Amino acid sequence: MDAPLSQVFFPASFHELFSAWSRFPDAKPYAGGTDIVWRQGKNTLTLPPIILCLDKLEELHRITRTERYLEIGAMSKLNQIYRLGKIVPEIFSACLENIAGVQLRNIATIGGNICCPARLLDTSAPLAALDALFEIRGAHSSRWVSSSRFFTTDEGASLESQELLTRIRLPLDQWDYSVYKKFSKVDITDSEIMVFLAKTQKNILTDLRVVFKTNTILRNKAGEGLLIGKHLPLSRKIAGDFVQNWLEFLDENHEMSDFTKNELINCIEINIFNLSE
Ligand SMILES: Cc1cc2nc3c(=O)[nH]c(=O)nc-3n(C[C@H](O)[C@H](O)[C@H](O)COP(=O)(O)OP(=O)(O)OC[C@H]3O[C@@H](n4cnc5c(N)ncnc54)[C@H](O)[C@@H]3O)c2cc1C
Repeated sequence: MDAPLSQVFFPASFHELFSAWSRFPDAKPYAGGTDIVWRQGKNTLTLPPIILCLDKLEELHRITRTERYLEIGAMSKLNQIYRLGKIVPEIFSACLENIAGVQLRNIATIGGNICCPARLLDTSAPLAALDALFEIRGAHSSRWVSSSRFFTTDEGASLESQELLTRIRLPLDQWDYSVYKKFSKVDITDSEIMVFLAKTQKNILTDLRVVFKTNTILRNKAGEGLLIGKHLPLSRKIAGDFVQNWLEFLDENHEMSDFTKNELINCIEINIFNLSE
């Protein structure tokens, strides 16, 4: 069908959304619009010709909580989630608080931050570390995808054409030690973040997750496996071996500048030695 020059749809149901999308396959979902209008300094904005504004889809604004999960609709604003307070896992709150200024966080949505096509944004690090799940809907399908698969695009699990992220399911585990560190960068479009999580029971390390986000998500599961089940405080040798294991993992898996590598390794070292004698 010939599309008019520009058109904005305000679907109020998924049926309306997907029927407009099937008529105009190149239409672009529009959430808060902060990425879509990113770096446009002129008086007149350039927008995609066909827009599917997600604002009227009530389900996407819903936030619910069960004993084990927080379920967040994709249209929830970053600040709205932050303001939920103590139920939000500490590292996720810290991440939200460190995204731009309050004005942007009042407009930008969690769905837009996750689905930004050109680059990996900040929420990817805590969401991958917390093992969040994403609900993705198509016209005739709905599936749950783990956040770490979603952010590792070469596994082919991120959005296909005419698919929408609808919900984020965030596990509400209790972490005994959690650290969120955003390394300062001149270029805010390319952030580097480390997340460090540890869970203990009767002085035994029962879970450990270290995630590093650059332009991809790095997690050294083999290194974590070496420490799980160990008594706390860890011996200095075990803590040192963990750092060494991360160094080898980085050498094998990811090219990065020495500066970035040192920054990350220092951060891992400080935190793992905080759990040692
Ligand atoms: C000044 C400034 C500073 C910033 N600083 C930071 C920062 O420090 N850290 C950081 O992480 N980000 C930062 N950003 C980026 C900002 O967080 C993102 O622009 C924002 O999160 C995008 O959300 P949105 O709702 O505005 O998305 P939109 O701009 O509406 O959409 C972004 C993309 O996602 C797609 N999309 C949106 N929702 C969905 C959905 N539900 N399903 C499928 N696709 C969807 C859209 O089609 C579009 O391609 C900054 C932006 C600005 C302007």
